[in-house]
Amino acid sequence: MQRTHTSPDRGRAALGPALSLIHTGAAPTRSALTGALGVTRATAGAITGELEALRLITVDARPAGGTRGRPSHRLAVDASGPVVVAAQVHADGFTVALAGLGGLLGEPVDLPLPADPTPERVMRAVVAEAARQIAADPRRCVGLGLAVPTPVALPERTAVAAMYLDWPSGTRVGDLLEQAVAEAGLGLPVDVANDANLAALAEHRHGAGRGARHLLYIASGHRGIGGALVVDGRLHTGSAGLALEVGQLTVDPNGRRCPCGNRGCLDVEADPPALLAAAGRTPDPDRSMDEQTAEVLADAAAGDAAARAALDHVVDRLGLGIAGVINILNPDRIVLGTFLAALLDAAPERLPDVVADRSHWGRCGRVPIVPAALDRSELAGAAELAWAPVLADPLGVLSGD
Ligand SMILES: [Zn+2]
Repeated sequence: MQRTHTSPDRGRAALGPALSLIHTGAAPTRSALTGALGVTRATAGAITGELEALRLITVDARPAGGTRGRPSHRLAVDASGPVVVAAQVHADGFTVALAGLGGLLGEPVDLPLPADPTPERVMRAVVAEAARQIAADPRRCVGLGLAVPTPVALPERTAVAAMYLDWPSGTRVGDLLEQAVAEAGLGLPVDVANDANLAALAEHRHGAGRGARHLLYIASGHRGIGGALVVDGRLHTGSAGLALEVGQLTVDPNGRRCPCGNRGCLDVEADPPALLAAAGRTPDPDRSMDEQTAEVLADAAAGDAAARAALDHVVDRLGLGIAGVINILNPDRIVLGTFLAALLDAAPERLPDVVADRSHWGRCGRVPIVPAALDRSELAGAAELAWAPVLADPLGVLSGD
């Protein structure tokens, strides 16, 4: 028999799981929520009432047609309720946006990195823009999450390989962000994590990874390649937060030099500069990398032999890397982000073929490979990071208990 939540403490314990179900769209109605939580209708009513009072959700007062013909109240996140700051630092700049629950990202503001971008200066610049956006918005801000292009070692939250930012290995990015927030007098809980990990989480909750049990996410923004694995809704972090460094897989022992000191890592064999190099084009520092790689892909589509050969070369390297990861992890879905999604779009048959041909499992059953669905997966993931304390204990965070 299903046990039901009856005591006040157990009701409070159900608030987080209930909010998570509404946040991810898994419980669009109160009857769906009742079923998913395994509680009585009365308890579900009390839970949604509490979340509504905290201004986290809205409960449609007039029941609409629900499952099995019984009308049910529609549930949605409260667009006028609390927000968080989502921020992302990448090799060429940083981005800040406010974000509501339900994966609702506000208009992102993209800014260049400060001159001499030390970790301290970058954190201060991120927090200054966050403070500006918070001050300009009437909604209550309850946290700040930051995505960074480096593995972040736990529990100290240190950047261990910010190769493309030139930050010293061991930089305590979590502490620096907390300091910057304290200096600005914002009084917000903050957290920082690897950008690919956060993007994977966002795609699992709101994008192309929804419903996958073992989601493998691989992406390349401007330089290098990041990966992450979401198992049953949780990030697989490894013992110290450093798992899934797929960028350092060797896919060509005699390949291009990698900033990590090795040769032929996926990082330098399948990222945007790798495509330009394979096509014999010199990167123009005054133009965006996206624009330059898009030109190669357009030329390949138009029949340019050198561009086509470059595309095939990079796709084969990527396929080899993905196949190696599949053999170890046996995922049920692979989501490719940013530049890698463009490669998949340009080679929709060749890439899955290479993966299937090179992977042990691929030959007996193909793993779906799909492009990321969110516009800004990393930024959306930074919002998820900032929401984590609220999703764990909504009452505790919002009432200050
Ligand atoms: Zn490497």
